[in-house]
Amino acid sequence: MSYKSVLVCAGLMSLAIASCNDQSQKTAEPGSAVPSGVVNVYSARHYDVDDALFESFTEQTGIKVNLVEGESDELLERIKTEGEASPADVFITVDAGRLWRAEQAGIFQPVSSAVLDETVPPSLRHPDGLWYGLTKRARVLIYNVDAVDPGELSTYEALAEPVWNGRVCVRSSSNIYNQSLLGSLVETIGLEETEAWAQGLVNNFARDPEGGDVDQIKAVAAGQCDVAIANHYYWARLAKSDEPESQDVVSKTAVFFPNQDDRGVHVNISGFGMVAGADNEENAIAFLEFLVSPEAQEVFANSNNEYPVAEGTPIEPIVAELGEFKMDEVNVTAYGRNNPEVVKLVDRVGWK
Ligand code: FE
Repeated sequence: MSYKSVLVCAGLMSLAIASCNDQSQKTAEPGSAVPSGVVNVYSARHYDVDDALFESFTEQTGIKVNLVEGESDELLERIKTEGEASPADVFITVDAGRLWRAEQAGIFQPVSSAVLDETVPPSLRHPDGLWYGLTKRARVLIYNVDAVDPGELSTYEALAEPVWNGRVCVRSSSNIYNQSLLGSLVETIGLEETEAWAQGLVNNFARDPEGGDVDQIKAVAAGQCDVAIANHYYWARLAKSDEPESQDVVSKTAVFFPNQDDRGVHVNISGFGMVAGADNEENAIAFLEFLVSPEAQEVFANSNNEYPVAEGTPIEPIVAELGEFKMDEVNVTAYGRNNPEVVKLVDRVGWK
């Protein structure tokens, strides 16, 4: 029994001792449909397919999933504010930088699970089991097929060279995706080199940063810039769309995986962790292990055109067509750890 449920039960002792005998934490045998409690999931990821998936988990385990959806920072604040009274057992969010923030806020507790450790590659999880990757996304280069020969592209670093002057689009440095990319660079090439790179990149901007990743891709298609940095799934989403405008953008652009001859492309994750003081620990672990099962991996990865963390999961044809790639295996915890330095660095180089 968790510390928190001991407190709750102590408070209720005179009323209902019998209900505090820990039954709610027992996990049913796989395949049995006997209800055996709940798992309370706070999730910053929301797709329609999630509901059907969670029903499948309930059918298999008897554990009911109570889902609270919201924006990541909002949910994190809510868990912090609720404190020990928080019903949250599991927190799911997007970007290792945000998982790190949650970790720093003390909302995660370590999970010990052979299933999670075997399924999630070491670079995509916290070394102490505080959080794990659920899906992964590559931060790729999107180029204009008329203006750029893919042979001219190589690495993130090369985008700071003078040949790219006035040709690069990327969103604001206040965005966590860029901060995490920079955090990974600080880890691999060091702070000084990362700053020199960022300065060169800013010097090469075609325009002041505006909009999100999709807006950068559209700007490349429109010829406002020749190359952009964006998450791969935004391009895949456009490629899957029937909208003539999206098809037009896709026909004028292509995806390039940088750094394939050295450390690999920067990847980030959506991920999850068990909330400290969770009342339903065993149910939470069963749920987390379900999240990396083939069934759940396929749904989570493909609903957003991402890559699964579990090997052997079938991926969306449009994503598969982008081809195999080498990923940078720097541990995702570096993105958050280096974030305070990154925030100062982007300010120094004038990346708005
Ligand atoms: Fe995104």
